[in-house]
Amino acid sequence: MAEFDVDLFVIGGGSGGVRAARIAAGYGARVMIAEEYRMGGTCVIRGCVPKKLFVIGSHVRHELEDAAGFGWTVPPATFDWPTLIANKDKEIARLEAAYTANVEKSGAQIVKSRAVIEDKHTVRLLENDRKITAKYILIATGGAPNHGASIPGIEHVISSNEAFHLKELPRRIVIQGGGYIALEFAGIFAGFGSDVTVIYRGDNILRGFDEDVRTHVRAEMEKQGITILTGCTVSKVDRHGDEFTTHLSNGSSLASEQVMFAIGRHPAVANLGLEKAGVAINPNNGGIAVDGFSKSSVGSIYAIGDVTHRFNLTPVAIREGHAFADTVFGKREVQVDHANIPTAVFSQPEVGTVGLTETEARAQFGHVDIYKTSFRPIKATMSGRDTRVLMKLVVDGASDRVLGCHIVGDAAAEITQAVAIAVKMKATKADFDATVALHPTAAEELVTMRTPTARHVRQAAE
Ligand code: FAD
Ligand code: NDP
Repeated sequence: MAEFDVDLFVIGGGSGGVRAARIAAGYGARVMIAEEYRMGGTCVIRGCVPKKLFVIGSHVRHELEDAAGFGWTVPPATFDWPTLIANKDKEIARLEAAYTANVEKSGAQIVKSRAVIEDKHTVRLLENDRKITAKYILIATGGAPNHGASIPGIEHVISSNEAFHLKELPRRIVIQGGGYIALEFAGIFAGFGSDVTVIYRGDNILRGFDEDVRTHVRAEMEKQGITILTGCTVSKVDRHGDEFTTHLSNGSSLASEQVMFAIGRHPAVANLGLEKAGVAINPNNGGIAVDGFSKSSVGSIYAIGDVTHRFNLTPVAIREGHAFADTVFGKREVQVDHANIPTAVFSQPEVGTVGLTETEARAQFGHVDIYKTSFRPIKATMSGRDTRVLMKLVVDGASDRVLGCHIVGDAAAEITQAVAIAVKMKATKADFDATVALHPTAAEELVTMRTPTARHVRQAAE
């Protein structure tokens, strides 16, 4: 009789957990995976996928507005929020079923239950109080919206979770936060017709992104009528029937039909039984502490994805899940290389970025050349839209290596995915220059910028 009920017990059926379960099962492991909500996890059910569908839908407004310059007469368009929600729900249900089917096809067994850790080889299923022993346990529980310190009226505030299921489109919405989710939803709601105010505590949105990107995106969003208030926070929310009054730290207040916070997410480590097994938390980020192989402080327990709070992105969770399965069940040790991960903010306009920002490069390299251009995209010349694209390359002057690429504009994410290959391969600026342009595109600017727009050479004394 086997020593354990299963070889691997995965807690969490999201991006990382599903990948790990499928790959481990493919290696012949006996795998059980527990999901307490819906298979597919945050990305599929209430993250990347429904968000991107909303972004695409809301961007139709821009297409309709731009059409006139090309000769089209578009009758006054109307938009129906319930239709959007119903169609989105249908697609998400289809994906959930596909995730379930793929896991089952791999041979892994799905249990629909919350699972908690009892000891370093045992989990308990809360649904039926059953205990399962496992040679290895993988924690892939993801994260959840963080509402910050409690303020009066916090119970009226929604997160991205609820934003996907609102009964109606708010006429006005106040969104607190200046990161990915706040800006993506600001564009979504504005596109569908809401009056949007973004409240951000610092002096400019998208902290951590390249400074030029931050300035450019903000200006472009403001041109579209989105109000961005910086240097303040939400201190109180009052409800009057269907309307809310949001009080700000600067003494002003705003009326709206919804108030949303997007001020970060916390790793889902609570009430998991971590302390029973002795699984340590990383004091720097509150996630599960892991080594380069995603192994926790307990040899039989691993953790991947958002619950480790390293890079909270779907492809990273998937990579980590795959690497875990290769290492533990595939007889080949694989560590995920977290350098040069491309990322996009699906704001409108989009941001695509890979590699170092100018600030980061100047802190690490003695000679940094910047190639930057901002131009009117070809479509705007006919549509009349007041918009500009930003493209920026950050280059190590000593080795000529392209350290970073930053784009704001239509298709920024798509372009960045391809450029990321070159950056990951350590391509030089000369390699970019040797590549023939593809015309007429916006991306051709990346291979036609000849002269640095700025050169930063650190003096010996600095
Ligand atoms: P998750 O996908 O969160 O899965 C964890 C699963 O574990 C959940 O299904 C949860 O129900 C389950 N669970 C938790 N605890 C238990 C338990 N005790 N027992 C059983 N089950 C449990 N990333 C991108 O790369 N691109 C994007 O465009 C993007 N957009 C996003 C938009 C939004 C609004 C949000 C919120 C996130 C977005 N992300 C995006 C981030 C991405 O969704 C996450 O990085 C990714 O889902 C992390 O995968 P994971 O497997 O670590 O966790
Ligand atoms: P982010 O970390 O991107 O942004 C959080 C924002 O909230 C920041 O502007 C931050 O300000 C602000 N903030 C933090 N704490 C407070 C507070 N107490 N009061 C007021 N403001 C506060 O988190 P999100 O919630 O937007 O998204 C979570 C994560 O999900 C992202 O980091 C990303 O990893 C992932 N994601 C990825 C997407 C993609 O790939 N396109 C899309 C959506 C999410 P400050 O900068 O000053 O700290």
